[in-house]
Amino acid sequence: MALGAEEWRLVCCRCLRRAERLIHRKFCVSCFNRDREARIGRNAKGQTPRLVARLRPISIVVPQAGAVRTVTEARVLGAWEIMVAIARQATGPVAFGAAPGSLAAQPVQAQSAPD
Ligand SMILES: [Zn+2]
Repeated sequence: MALGAEEWRLVCCRCLRRAERLIHRKFCVSCFNRDREARIGRNAKGQTPRLVARLRPISIVVPQAGAVRTVTEARVLGAWEIMVAIARQATGPVAFGAAPGSLAAQPVQAQSAPD
């Protein structure tokens, strides 16, 4: 899949849907609200959101400019959340891989066109 960085700017990192507005340049309104409920540990009904059990830390590796850096997020559903955030800021092609020792998804490559 090859999308330009411009096309990623309005895609929610979590649900991957296009959104007119992203909160903190990351989540659509719905995902932001669900994430907030997960952070405080209860939803509008006063129950523990199911999302709490699904959020976990994930690391991916990002080769860039001859080096490889590891990017870790503490509370994500999947590696795609990190990938979308990185692709959104990319000024050139970006590749992703699973961090050594991680149980993350298989290596995935995405390209992002220069601005
Ligand atoms: Zn969303």
